[in-house]
Amino acid sequence: MKLNRIQQEEVLTFAQQLIRVPGTSGNERQVASLVNQKMKELGYDHVHVDPYGSVIGVVEGLHPGPTLLLDGHTDVVPIHEPHQWSYDPHGGVVVDGKLMGRGAADMKGSLAAMICAASYIDRAAIAGTIIVSASVAEELMPGRALEKILDAFPADSVIIGEPTDLRLGFTEKGRCTIGMKVMGKIAHSSRPELGENAIYYAVNAIDRIKGIPLRSDTELGSEVIELVEIRSSPSPGNGSVPDQCWGLWECRILPGESKKALLDRFNNCQNDTRWQEKIRFAIETIDVVCYTGKHLVGKDFLPGWKGDENSRIHRQMEAAIERCGIPLIHWPVPYGCNALASCGLRGLPTVVFGPGDVACAHRPNEFLLVRDLWKATEVFGSAMEFNGVLL
Ligand SMILES: [Zn+2]
Repeated sequence: MKLNRIQQEEVLTFAQQLIRVPGTSGNERQVASLVNQKMKELGYDHVHVDPYGSVIGVVEGLHPGPTLLLDGHTDVVPIHEPHQWSYDPHGGVVVDGKLMGRGAADMKGSLAAMICAASYIDRAAIAGTIIVSASVAEELMPGRALEKILDAFPADSVIIGEPTDLRLGFTEKGRCTIGMKVMGKIAHSSRPELGENAIYYAVNAIDRIKGIPLRSDTELGSEVIELVEIRSSPSPGNGSVPDQCWGLWECRILPGESKKALLDRFNNCQNDTRWQEKIRFAIETIDVVCYTGKHLVGKDFLPGWKGDENSRIHRQMEAAIERCGIPLIHWPVPYGCNALASCGLRGLPTVVFGPGDVACAHRPNEFLLVRDLWKATEVFGSAMEFNGVLL
């Protein structure tokens, strides 16, 4: 697919409109309604809004064939350092060929590209069904909104449009947060021998967890097990030996790691210690309130994945990238995204591909090269045109 001038203008204008309506996780209503309106205006066959507020547009090809789903999230992270921005984060201005603003790279540009691309393809030449989903709450809880979409709209393969700088993302680390609860015994701090200080137990347990040998993968590098929070009770602690302590670890896990195996690694390193019985490890639960008022709830465990290079979607995307004259670079995805649900949890053939550099995402002066926005639109369109074609 090659965009004409009018199409280029339309994709860019739509990306600018999306940037101009802010929407952090749980506050995506305006973005969703803009997407809904645009899909209808572009002539999608059906447009749905699910109970969680994700918008799903469907384009039917004239010939039978597989269902390809392209997904982009509608939420963005908040503006933490407004004074460090040289441009209005919600202005969507173009400066020297760069589209500036929160979400330009992550990932309103890509969302505009996939939504427009589905309306530029020649339906008479298309096999199967193309679904474009604009999903909510990814920044707080990757995967869960997409799972609900896939329950209602089963797909054969998936493209997640997160920023890869036009490289083909074929593998991704999973994620998990593990909480630790330590129970001691309360006492007056002048008589600590009468209590059991939960912080002391926790410190020893944490030390052992730091000693867990980290595994590594040739493409994804080392897994990560990082302590990110500690709390104790009572707090403030004046006068008391604390009887409770909590810790929280964020883990970036490699493909093949299971919930049980990961928890076993935390538990086993405490074996035969005097605090072993005082400690419980558990996978944390995340609960996000969507803008519709519905809750997305789930255990924070999403397995990593490695795609099959012989899968239809892999070949489809390689062919699309080559047709659009972009160097074909395979890329291990370093961050967690909705592909953790489609491929990690469900094993659906998935690739990650989008315009923009993740290095500038979530930071002041986030930007997207306009020429890459157009290139990505052409790649998405070409991948849709290859749907159901034997490659
Ligand atoms: Zn993102």
